Amino acid sequence: MDTAPAPSAVTAAEPAARLDLPLFREIPGHHAPTPFYLTDDMFGGLSFEVAGGEISDKVGKPVAAPHTHEVPEIYLLLSPNPGGATIEVIADGQRHELTSPATFYIPAGTVHHFLTLQAEPGTYCLGLLLTGTAR
Ligand code: ZN
Repeated sequence: MDTAPAPSAVTAAEPAARLDLPLFREIPGHHAPTPFYLTDDMFGGLSFEVAGGEISDKVGKPVAAPHTHEVPEIYLLLSPNPGGATIEVIADGQRHELTSPATFYIPAGTVHHFLTLQAEPGTYCLGLLLTGTAR
């Protein structure tokens, strides 16, 4: 019987913490280095990465120009209270309005960006990059 781990399996054998967060990376299209909380080289190798941050000070201020990724991305919009945040996502030229809590799937290669319309303090918009789906 084949016992090889699934491609998404984490291989680290010991519980571990990373306290040096966020890590900042340059992402094409983004106006400033992007904070990452999970990267695919952590914990023995992950099949996804998590970037983004708190957005209550970003109302009306896009964090990135329209851009693409070689892998799918999922936006995860979370606020302390349901309905506490609304963002406008433009993907493939189509406008979508999301109110928290919400997720939004962006296929690989899709031109996209978002704008914060309203966000209470403590609202996060995270981008989960599914890096294990390519390469
Ligand atoms: Zn993106």
